[in-house]
Amino acid sequence: MQFSEIVGQIDLKKRMINEIRSEKMSHAQLFLGKNGYGNLALALSYTQYLFCENKGEEDSCGVCASCSKTKQLIHPDVHFVFPTVQAISKTSDGMIANWREAVATSAYFNLNDWINFTDNKGRRPIVGAEESKELLKKLSLMSFEGGYKVVIIWMAEEMNVTFANKMLKTLEEPADKTIILILAENTEKILPTIMSRAQLKKIPRLGFAEVAHYVQSSTELSENEAQSLVARVEGDICLIRAHLMNAENEDKNRIIFIELMRSSYKKNVLEMMDWADMVSGIGREGQKTFLEYALHMVRQSILKNYTDEQLARVSEEEAGFLKNFSKFITGNNVTDFLNIFSEAHYHIERNANPKILFTHLAFRTMRFIHFA
Ligand SMILES: [Zn+2]
Repeated sequence: MQFSEIVGQIDLKKRMINEIRSEKMSHAQLFLGKNGYGNLALALSYTQYLFCENKGEEDSCGVCASCSKTKQLIHPDVHFVFPTVQAISKTSDGMIANWREAVATSAYFNLNDWINFTDNKGRRPIVGAEESKELLKKLSLMSFEGGYKVVIIWMAEEMNVTFANKMLKTLEEPADKTIILILAENTEKILPTIMSRAQLKKIPRLGFAEVAHYVQSSTELSENEAQSLVARVEGDICLIRAHLMNAENEDKNRIIFIELMRSSYKKNVLEMMDWADMVSGIGREGQKTFLEYALHMVRQSILKNYTDEQLARVSEEEAGFLKNFSKFITGNNVTDFLNIFSEAHYHIERNANPKILFTHLAFRTMRFIHFA
């Protein structure tokens, strides 16, 4: 990753470049600040600049062999330590492919995004004892390319006591030409002894204008939408990404929902079967979000029919759809609809066969929608 890809943080980038150009890098550094402010992104750019064979005054070249390896996270002298769900892998190396994929998508992601990305059961990942053995092994190796070795420890607050103590030892006896970048969002869970041995690089919250510029250049939101979004995220790019992803899912779910209602209202069995086929292919997590969305739409329809309240929680597109659709959900069938969607959700969580389940769901929808 290059410095030019980073949102804002102009002063910090300058400081990092100066440090490397004058060869005054500390062997242990604490990058402190939210991932959404650019914590990991800065560590990656810093590392790429350090290894670049053709450094410019403001950035790495981006094309030399070292840059290419660093960018793909395959440089043999750059090691990563990050939290892993211990039941899946006890070490980062066991999940390095996932890590590369996550970073390739965007270097702006937080622990929650990482959990969603790696474990559909949502278990909490840690940096554990097994990892500390791996780290010591790596640190004892000679650098492959004869220069520096860099270790990037992401979300250091998730390290357990065993790892933290081993880590402390390493910091007390720094190895030659080894740079350890400790990345953390807050210091509460980090041993004071570790903090006192690392040079602090504080990563400040991004300014409104910087985030606004990012949103305008990377999305197709209107100026109004962009302003309203930026106002809600407190300078955190990860929150922008989460919001945009949700919006995308909502669009997808709305289309699936409309298709189900349309085909079952017309009693078009072929289309209903196609629908069930399509939904069985979107994965369990996607199916669960769709069913949650369907429950939301049924409740909103009832609210629209029986109260004068403004629908506060629907987008403009949804309001448009509900205007015509809500009359199909009444006191006669609302319980049935709530039941079929929540039962389906229950069974999907327990690994029911999705094709059978969604076919059945489509047929029951056909029955209930004509009971309005
Ligand atoms: Zn380069």
